[in-house]
Amino acid sequence: AKESIDKNHLYYQEKMRNRLETNKKIKEILREALENDGFKLVYQPQVNLRTGRAEYFEALLRLKNYNISPGKFIPVAESSGLINEIGRWVTEETIKELAELNQESINPIKISINFSVKQLHDAGYIDFLEELLKEYDLNPGLLEIEITESILIKAEDKAIEFLNKISDLGVKLALDDFGNGYSSLKYLSFINFDKIKVDRHLGKMFLDNDQKETMASLINLFHSMGLPVVAEGVEELVNYNLLKNLKCDFIQGYLFSRPVGRDKLTKILNHNFIK
Ligand code: C2E
Ligand code: CA
Ligand code: CA
Ligand code: CA
Repeated sequence: AKESIDKNHLYYQEKMRNRLETNKKIKEILREALENDGFKLVYQPQVNLRTGRAEYFEALLRLKNYNISPGKFIPVAESSGLINEIGRWVTEETIKELAELNQESINPIKISINFSVKQLHDAGYIDFLEELLKEYDLNPGLLEIEITESILIKAEDKAIEFLNKISDLGVKLALDDFGNGYSSLKYLSFINFDKIKVDRHLGKMFLDNDQKETMASLINLFHSMGLPVVAEGVEELVNYNLLKNLKCDFIQGYLFSRPVGRDKLTKILNHNFIK
């Protein structure tokens, strides 16, 4: 028995060491990307089910030279403190794109970005954001910031103040991943949200298991609070049809489009997805 305990111990030690090494490597990659323009954004449309148009795009971060998903590198960015600088890069890049794109295009284009709980510690962020909006002369309502509920659970008062300052600038706020983890409606009265994004797994669970009524109630609940609903990660036509009947406002998912590069945005903007 002793021997097998030791083996287990070694195995976990080895596993832990590998993970630490991988994280260290990812951290170096992130640092290098910050220095050498190694990040890019891809954009996934959120299709308005009434108009068939991609009214919003979610900006998703990628490394130009590495095939490492944000699911892997964002946690490393968060634990290493690089997330603040990365978050600022995402913000500036998006505002720059928004300013350019809205000169080129007739239909207004809106972009949402993701914001990590760790960025609440970036004390200068709100001033940074305000300056950028001025510098690029951008209508702040074209930018939306997506936050998850973990932000509100971990740093309640501070988070509420921070987010309401963002909202005061005229920037929109979306509650991301609703239903993934601790869902609470409590925050909806403290924070001036503009939109709810229902987590892929929750939506799929309701729709696949013949719990349409539950999904309908959820959508109606948000509507009664004046909040439009985005269903995330919709891959199947049958679920699109259900969601349309339930008066869901937006769909974001592979069914309509994967995230695309900047060059495809204007084309998608003029495309009708449901005609
Ligand atoms: P998220 O904010 O929930 O973003 C949606 C994720 O779902 C994206 O993954 C997107 O590509 C994927 N997705 C969209 N439609 C479908 C679908 O129909 N089926 C499936 N299976 N997946 C779909 P991605 O780009 O790998 O990003 C993963 C997560 O990484 C994001 O989840 C977000 O939490 C985080 N992330 C991405 N970019 C940023 C960023 O710039 N800053 C921060 N803080 N986090 C980011
Ligand atoms: Ca998101
Ligand atoms: Ca999400
Ligand atoms: Ca608002």
